[in-house]
Amino acid sequence: MKCTSDAGESASADPGATGEMLLRCEHATALVKGERVRAVIGDVVEVELPEGHDKGIIVDIAPRRTSFVRRDPAERTASQVLAANFDLVIVAEPIVGLNRQRLERELVLAHETGADVAVVLTKSDLADGNEAAAVVKDVSDLAGRDVAVLAVSTDDPDSVERVRDLVGPGSVAVLIGKSGVGKSSLVNLLAGAEVQDTGEVRERDGKGRHTTVDRVMVELPGGGCVVDMPGVRGLGLWDADAGLGAAFSDIEELAASCRFRDCSHVDEPGCAVLAAVAAGELAEARLRSYRTLSAEIADVRARRDEARHLRGEKASDRKKRRRR
Ligand code: GDP
Ligand code: ZN
Repeated sequence: MKCTSDAGESASADPGATGEMLLRCEHATALVKGERVRAVIGDVVEVELPEGHDKGIIVDIAPRRTSFVRRDPAERTASQVLAANFDLVIVAEPIVGLNRQRLERELVLAHETGADVAVVLTKSDLADGNEAAAVVKDVSDLAGRDVAVLAVSTDDPDSVERVRDLVGPGSVAVLIGKSGVGKSSLVNLLAGAEVQDTGEVRERDGKGRHTTVDRVMVELPGGGCVVDMPGVRGLGLWDADAGLGAAFSDIEELAASCRFRDCSHVDEPGCAVLAAVAAGELAEARLRSYRTLSAEIADVRARRDEARHLRGEKASDRKKRRRR
């Protein structure tokens, strides 16, 4: 199992004894079916190494099995892929001071990737045993049946082993969570070496554009790889209907019984979701989160459609002008 980006492979370069090598590439983009696509961590790329060049050129990017997509923080009507071809997204939140709304958003984004999803609740040494167990239970209920929820602490090797088991040999996991939550510390323990700097901010913004300076795949001794996505600050939703449905499966299940198929669960008669809130079976805060995230997805879609529409108009304007 290779943990480096496949950008390292090139037919014309000497791959060495292991058959693997690292090769720097000229640009991180390639034209794929007429569109310029930026290669991201995890991408499988085809590289050419022209005679006399020491840098490769990415000529193709293979279709992505899974991808982590958010709204581009610098451009509201564009998306940005952060990682590709992984099997599991691990969402890290601190067990003390956990931000529910952030976790709900992270779960939507994680589910939308198409990969499996797990949650690690970090720094569990800062909570007492009962408190920790209560948070694990609460988050398990929130995240639903298919999401493993683990409490981890860097001073509890068993807890780290449980994360290793989750990743499993031969699979690739992406670790997300806000800066300072303990991702690098966890990666170092999983790797059995100091592969990531800890306790520092490793994100910078140049010209208002998000650039993460340190995004690597780390090979784990038991097999498998982890990609630490340091301090991904903006987690704007893009196309995330499927992710929303998976992260809020409790609400989607209730919604199937609403009288109207397009029920917005605000004030419609025969709304099964509102009935569940009234009966105390669904927390009102959870419905609020669902509505907020759902509205964000609709808003992004509307803006994107409008931008496309305007671009379309401009293109036809240009055509008209040429004809004159
Ligand atoms: P990252 O920004 O998510 O990569 O977070 P780091 O791994 O750099 O950790 C941020 C800070 O939290 C550092 O000072 C770590 O020493 C501390 N930290 C990480 N894991 C734990 C833990 O399990 N328990 C405690 N008490 N502190 C931790
Ligand atoms: Zn309804």
